[in-house]
This record gives sequence, C-alpha cells and structure tokens, in this order.
Amino acid sequence: MEEKTKTSEKRPEISVVVPVYNESPNLRPLTDRLLQSLRPINREFEIILVDDGSTDDSAAILKDLASQIRELRAVIFRRNFGQSAAMTAGFDHARGDIVISMDGDLQNDPADIPALIDKLDQGYDMVQGWRKDRKDPFFSRRLPSILANRLIGCTTGVKLHDYGCSLKAYRKDLAKNLLLYGELHRFIPVLANLFGARITEIVVNHHPRKMGKSKYGIGRTYRVLLDLLLMLFFQKFATRPLQFFGLNGGILFCAGMLIEGYLAAIKLFKGVEIGGRPLLILGAILIISGIILSGIGLLAELIVRVYYESSGKRIYSVREVLD
Ligand code: UDP
Ligand code: MG
Repeated sequence: MEEKTKTSEKRPEISVVVPVYNESPNLRPLTDRLLQSLRPINREFEIILVDDGSTDDSAAILKDLASQIRELRAVIFRRNFGQSAAMTAGFDHARGDIVISMDGDLQNDPADIPALIDKLDQGYDMVQGWRKDRKDPFFSRRLPSILANRLIGCTTGVKLHDYGCSLKAYRKDLAKNLLLYGELHRFIPVLANLFGARITEIVVNHHPRKMGKSKYGIGRTYRVLLDLLLMLFFQKFATRPLQFFGLNGGILFCAGMLIEGYLAAIKLFKGVEIGGRPLLILGAILIISGIILSGIGLLAELIVRVYYESSGKRIYSVREVLD
C-alpha cells in the first residue's frame, strides 16, 4: 500500500540530479541544504542522487536517505561509469519539467537553485552557473579552466564564462536529449547549442571542497582538448561527414595529381630522370591519402545514416508545433 501512494503522488515539477562518487561525508549535509532551498519554492520536486559505483559507504547512506525522505530517489550504479554517465542516468530518471544538475561535493550551493529556476522561467532552455569567485587552486584548476573557457568560447561560438560549472538548469526536453558520451558533460553548453537551446548564464556561489577528494587532476586538460576537437567536428559536420572528408581528401588528391603530372611531363618531354626525387613519393602519398580520406567520408555517411535511422533520432529538433 505504501508503494502505491508513493507512485500515485503528483509528478514532480523540478528534478535535481546529483552524481555521487565517494562523497559519503557530504551526502547528509548536501541533502539537508537541498531540502532547505527546494521546500520554500512550493513546487513539487525530487532529488535524484546517482551513486557512480562508490567504493566508500555512499551507496548505503543513499539507501538510508531514500527510505527516509519522500522526495529523494537514489540510482545505484553497478560500477564506476564516470560523471557523464551518472548525470545521464539522472536525466533519464528525471520526471520534472525543469531539471537541475549540480555536484555532490557541496562546492555548488543549493541556495542558487531558485535563481536558476527564475531565470529559466524567463524563457530560456538552459541556464549555466558562473563561478565568478571560484574557490579552487589557481595553477591546477582556475588557470587551465580560464584558458579552456576562452578557447571553447572562441572556437565554438557559444559565449559563456564558465562551461565547467556543473550547476545548471535545463528544460526537460533538452536534458533528456543530451548524449554525454565519454566526458562530454564539460561541453553541455555546446551540445545544448547544437540542439538549438536558448542559453544564458547567472553568477552562482562556489565553495572550497571541505570533505572528500576531487576526482580529477591536471591530466584532464589534454582530454578536454580532444573533446573540443570532437565538438568542433560535430558542430559542423555531424550530419554530413563526406563534406569534411571529401573536401580535404579531394584537395590532397588534386595536389598529388598535379605533382605527379608535373613529374610525368618533365620525364616525357625533357627526359629528366625523376626516379630519385622526393616529390615523386610526396605526390604518391598525397594521392593515396586523398582516396582514403574520401573513402572514410563515404563510410562515415553510411554510419551517420545507420545511427540516425536505427536510434530513431531526428536530424532536427523542434521547439513547438502550432496547429
Ligand atoms: N563524480 C562522479 N563520477 C566520477 C567522478 C566524479 O559521479 O567518476 C562526481 C563527484 O562525486 C562530484 C562531481 O562528479 O559530485 C564532480 O567531481 P569533483 O568534485 O571531483 O570534480 P571537481 O569539482 O574537482 O572538478
Ligand atoms: Mg568538486
């Protein structure tokens, strides 16, 4: 009977999604603060804590909390899948029209949630938090982040101050359509922009980590660069890879043909010996590379079609349909 009343209760309007990996000392204070900031809003809400295969007692604490607090739901992973996967699981389970994401280490402040929701209600699809006064070490964290933010801003054209801040608010359809492969949670604003979302940002609080350890080090910088490359490719060519590979392949092929043509001409008409010339090898490599690149482009076209048609995904996203 208990179970029945639980499922038949009103659907939440707001879902807060928090990935959790070895955060046991933070979980109770985090839940308290979330409740403190969500209850006064007077809208139905749920808190979804996703345990990402923690090796401490986070999962046990979450089970305990979920049994005590009506609004709290816990999703427990079988093993560590990473922050992106944990966030995606939270989005998949979210039932609210408004979805909030944040870290589980109390570096983000639940007190900012009402302001995020207000901003979203002004007609945005996504509100990004901006840790203007960020409380992290300078050289290992803030400096790489400043550079990364500049680089991402310039190259992708999505102008925000702080892509890395987990505290964000989304409309449901956006949150459910973010496919966060690998570690793409750092590029959510770029993915949102690809989706066609209206994005804005507001300044939020940030606190130093008091309990538990950070899960990332300086090593993420290089991975962020790789992901940026992927994002740039996606932005331009996700649905038409042949245009990228075919164009570049064609340029290489033509350059190679010109070189070989020139060598053939001087050999035939002037009788010049060309066997030992490096240019001969360069031309051959260019021709072969051009053919291979174009071939990859054709294959990629096939893969894109298989991807869209097998997953039922569309190549567009509709804001609304008016009858
Ligand atoms: N996290 C996770 N799975 C992981 C790594 C991290 O769910 O494999 C969670 C972590 O518990 C925290 C959030 O992601 O809630 C951000 O991690 P962290 O605070 O270590 O990152 P930082 O703030 O140092 O960038
Ligand atoms: Mg943190």
